[in-house]
Amino acid sequence: MKDAPIVWADDAQTGAARHISEVEPGLACHCVCTGCHAAMEAVNSKNPNPKHRPHFRHDKAPILEDCARQAILKATIKTLMEVTEIELPELRKQGKAVAQDGMEFEAEVTEQPQLVKIQNIEQVDVADVISCVKV
Ligand SMILES: [Zn+2]
Repeated sequence: MKDAPIVWADDAQTGAARHISEVEPGLACHCVCTGCHAAMEAVNSKNPNPKHRPHFRHDKAPILEDCARQAILKATIKTLMEVTEIELPELRKQGKAVAQDGMEFEAEVTEQPQLVKIQNIEQVDVADVISCVKV
């Protein structure tokens, strides 16, 4: 993760997640690292023909092992907070069932993919997010 380009950072004033495409270049981005809170510089954020992928880099502090991971986590949570529905995939359940005559048999039920509304999202810690959906 240390070598992954950081494309998300925190707004220095509000703490909101900012993508590299939505900020001014250089220190005018007014962002800090999500992982270590160091000042960030936006590279190629408004360059229409960049030689390198637009990204954030630390202005003066060294990048830490956790910086890119924290940025990705915060961006993922931001995205989850913005969506209102999620599609659950097809679900197959297998098991034993008993017929009216008492004979056991193998059964399989397939639930079709369904669109469900997200009612609440809660971040438990850096590894887990709980999503409550209404089916
Ligand atoms: Zn950092």
